[in-house]
Amino acid sequence: PNYQSVALVVGVTGIVGNSLAEILPLSDTPGGPWKVYGVARRPRPSWNEDHPINYITCDVSDADDVKAKLSPLTDITNIFYVTWTNRSTEKENCEANGEMLKNVLNVVIPNCPNLKHICLQTGRKHYLGPFETLWKVQPHDPPYTEDLPRLDCLNFYYTLEDILLQEAGKKEGLTWSVHRPGVIFGFSPYSIMNVVGTLCVYAAICKHEGAVLRYPGSKVSWDGYSDCSDADLVVEHQIWAAVDPYAKNEAFNVSNGDVFKWKHFWKVLAEQFGVECGEYEEGKDVKLQELMKDKGPVWDEIVRENGLAPTKLADIGHWWLIDLVFQNAGVLDTMNKSKEHGFLGFRNSKNSFISWIDKVKAYKIVP
Ligand code: NDP
Repeated sequence: PNYQSVALVVGVTGIVGNSLAEILPLSDTPGGPWKVYGVARRPRPSWNEDHPINYITCDVSDADDVKAKLSPLTDITNIFYVTWTNRSTEKENCEANGEMLKNVLNVVIPNCPNLKHICLQTGRKHYLGPFETLWKVQPHDPPYTEDLPRLDCLNFYYTLEDILLQEAGKKEGLTWSVHRPGVIFGFSPYSIMNVVGTLCVYAAICKHEGAVLRYPGSKVSWDGYSDCSDADLVVEHQIWAAVDPYAKNEAFNVSNGDVFKWKHFWKVLAEQFGVECGEYEEGKDVKLQELMKDKGPVWDEIVRENGLAPTKLADIGHWWLIDLVFQNAGVLDTMNKSKEHGFLGFRNSKNSFISWIDKVKAYKIVP
């Protein structure tokens, strides 16, 4: 085919990367037809195999590997940067994540004369501050708008933005966009942070043990308004920014455009797995990290008994993430800037939640 655009997706098996791999090659995707290169470290997993892309194993934290694997690619027109690494301090996060982005840009920008646009995905911690100090340092007052000043602390998102602007500025006509989702609802057993996947695993363990689906969070998070960002919507947003001239050289929030309460979604989750629905437990500090800490062997049994795709609980049960997300509520953004610039996409979060649960089941990650 005569490709109009050529994508490099860095992190192609991640929670947004896998959706990019699915959506970019579709015949009706704006800017297409798209040729797609996709990068990740591990060999290609079966759940990514149906997407018609060129899969490249490459460790972008290794400058030599990037040079070897990516310098032969000279036809890239668009980069979608949807990867990261999680270190123990934010200082290390800034260094390690900055290095990864630089390694990619240092090779692709000089080698690809037709490179036009770079989409960088960061997130709402731009306004909340890094995990290190989350809920400890006073963040901005929500709803968050893109023009709020940076918080006075280290944040690898700031490092990435600075590198992006600096490197993109070196090439005439090269544009960029920054995408800031909140909690992402999507599919990827290789993701570092997967809320829906982790909740499915938790519910499956409760089902297996005949236990109540206890709510591991605060009263604020049970009763308050929450929101999320559907992975396919984040992809639509990135493709919009890649194609639309009015979206260039700007940062944008990206969320579904509605709100929900976890107490309502908890019922949905319980129904989907046929377990007894728990609720917020007054005076008890229920934490998934505590409840699930010895369940590795139970999970192995569930996988065996149900003939599931082989996974390890330590890889797909992100208990720390749920314990963090379920502490607070109302940390919402606004989609006004995206709308004013012409992006009117949205998702119904309840339908989004159910459809990703269905996908986790369909790919036999949970029973
Ligand atoms: P994921 O953790 O879902 O996926 C990461 C992808 O990158 C995987 O394909 C992984 O595969 C690959 N990868 C990791 N390290 C390397 C490496 N050194 N070289 C090459 N490939 C690598 O990514 P997310 O989409 O979650 O994260 C992207 C950004 O979005 C981050 O800044 C994150 O903070 C932000 N964000 C995420 C949210 C979420 O809910 N997940 C919410 C809001 C923001 P492999 O391991 O095989 O290399």
